[in-house]
Amino acid sequence: NVLLTQFLIDAARDFPKRDAVQFMGKKLTYEQLLEESYRFANSLKELGVKPQERVAIMLPNCPQAVIAYYGALFIGAVVVQTNPLYMERELEHQLTDSGSETIICLDLVLPKVQNVKSKTQLKRVIVTSIKDYLPFPKNVLYPLTLWKDGIKLTHEYDHDTHAFKRLITKALPTPVVPPEIDPIHDVALLQYTGGTTGLSKAAMLTHRNLIVNSIQASYWLYKVKRGTEKILGVLPFFHVYGMTVVMNYAMYQAATMILIPRFDCDMIMKTIVKERPTLFPGAPTMYVAIINHPNIQKYDLSSIDACVSGSAALPVEVQEKFEKLTGGRLIEGYGMTETSPVTHSNLVWDRVRSSTIGIPWPDTEARVVDSETGEELPVGEVGELQVRGPQVMKGYWNREDETAKVLTSDGWLSTGDIVRMDEEGYFFVMDRKKDMIIAGGYNIYPREVEEVLFEHPGIQEAAVVGVPHPYRGETVKAFIVLKPGIKLTEKELDQYCREKLAKYKIPRLYEFRDELPKTFVGKVLRRVLQEQEKKKYE
Ligand code: ATP
Ligand code: MG
Repeated sequence: NVLLTQFLIDAARDFPKRDAVQFMGKKLTYEQLLEESYRFANSLKELGVKPQERVAIMLPNCPQAVIAYYGALFIGAVVVQTNPLYMERELEHQLTDSGSETIICLDLVLPKVQNVKSKTQLKRVIVTSIKDYLPFPKNVLYPLTLWKDGIKLTHEYDHDTHAFKRLITKALPTPVVPPEIDPIHDVALLQYTGGTTGLSKAAMLTHRNLIVNSIQASYWLYKVKRGTEKILGVLPFFHVYGMTVVMNYAMYQAATMILIPRFDCDMIMKTIVKERPTLFPGAPTMYVAIINHPNIQKYDLSSIDACVSGSAALPVEVQEKFEKLTGGRLIEGYGMTETSPVTHSNLVWDRVRSSTIGIPWPDTEARVVDSETGEELPVGEVGELQVRGPQVMKGYWNREDETAKVLTSDGWLSTGDIVRMDEEGYFFVMDRKKDMIIAGGYNIYPREVEEVLFEHPGIQEAAVVGVPHPYRGETVKAFIVLKPGIKLTEKELDQYCREKLAKYKIPRLYEFRDELPKTFVGKVLRRVLQEQEKKKYE
């Protein structure tokens, strides 16, 4: 009856004095992290939190985010990861949808929580400050420019509001009696999907789902000795990717995590130079920002052995430049919230391959099907990716209809992504099914057109969507962000595309923008661009 928290118990037993987390100069060893987590678990119990009750965590990467996560899991509660940048409307949706009764948040966002509280089922609010785990004297205000400017608390603490630090200090560090929950069937986590294509839904992930994905990661991704690795923890833990590939994986490997609360290019480089991390899981936008940093040559990034890029397609150019810069490997993986999240990746020790998400992880089956008929397609053909394995979610929380749409009775999950597999078993993501453009009877994958545009030396970013067209049904429109100081005309772009793309794929419309709408992990929100376009035609 093993829970996800076993990783932390094992690491603290085998490597008690090793640093588990480092955060702006403060360190917590594995022994201390376990003790703090037990204390927090005991205080949740004291407050009346029951197994399977939902506990929302709304924190940036900081020691409290780790302690609250394992603390809540120790008592069998269901963690609901919440983005600390959510506005009240989004927060309210997530809290009511999940039925969270407890929330742990930063003092900086307490006003938001207080404002929505009466509309939700919240009974308890636990507040913490970034300073709670910093080695600074209490009266010195740490420059909070790292995480927005410190806003003064405008709300008085009411009797339902508790201070994290006080709870932890009061509670006992005694091990928690294991709760009566089943790690295979009971839910550990409600993880909301990225909201890239529509309203975000909560995937129900079990302890087993999460345990398995970390173990798969350590067998497939990157073989290192337990207790030796140092991971740059810049991917947010409230997102499934950072949660598994940084936090849970670190516990399994007894690695040291360097916690970074917000992506800030300068801070990341300085941290790499000073702390010498070996592994840097990230999203393509992060690597893009780093290779384009004006003073990049000044920093020694050679400690990095491996980087894993996921959550969106990794442009080839970025992969090559980044590998040159660090001397380490940057490999691409693939996953989704519904699969805890990873199902595919390249291998660090494999030869360099570009534009592929790699091969399925151990125990993971993958097949390409015709998305209309569900029939399996032969090697090389383009169709929808389906996956099956121990990391696949139980279903969507309170949305049986949505679950039925994606999960078959024999365990296959439809990913909604259009892919192709080559003879060696490597998978290539063409695009999302929902984003495919059908123009004059032809299927066009926006990603392919974007990649071509991205290769243009004057273009920083590009997004391609289908817009209504009287004859073709849809036609291709490109939104372009130019590099600073560059000027390009539509005509020049048209000329460029004509040399590289079949006629039907060439954008017929261009629009220059200063920036593109994105999700918090940096995925371009084509949906938003499309909605803006549709409005024009109404
Ligand atoms: P929503 O499901 O709410 O619309 P989302 O699908 O973006 O949002 P996530 O679960 O965070 O939410 O993302 C999973 C998706 O990310 C995959 O289905 C796929 O489209 C995309 N993705 C992940 N890794 C890659 C990759 N390496 N290359 C291309 N796309 C990727
Ligand atoms: Mg999705």
